[in-house]
Amino acid sequence: MQQVQGGESQSGLGSDVSLEDELNALLTTPQIPLRMCRVAHVLSLMTEQQRELFVKLLDEPLIPAPNISKTLERHGYLVPSKSISRHRRRFSNGGCACQT
Ligand SMILES: [Zn+2]
Repeated sequence: MQQVQGGESQSGLGSDVSLEDELNALLTTPQIPLRMCRVAHVLSLMTEQQRELFVKLLDEPLIPAPNISKTLERHGYLVPSKSISRHRRRFSNGGCACQT
């Protein structure tokens, strides 16, 4: 019979993860900051050269967001075209909340 645990864990159950371990995992696992959108997140993962090109594309409103989205997706970066469009409008009302 298994016991439901409350409070401090002194048991030797193998699957038991202590609160300390879980909190520590939260600390050490990179999280997307709340104000960072998909675009900003992907930018943070890219190399300097890729980032430069992506930023140029973002600043070029004539290049359709779906084209950028599809190209990035082929290389493993999932950025919905909606996120790209919203990020382009980040300085206006209803646009992306991130400040980058
Ligand atoms: Zn953004």
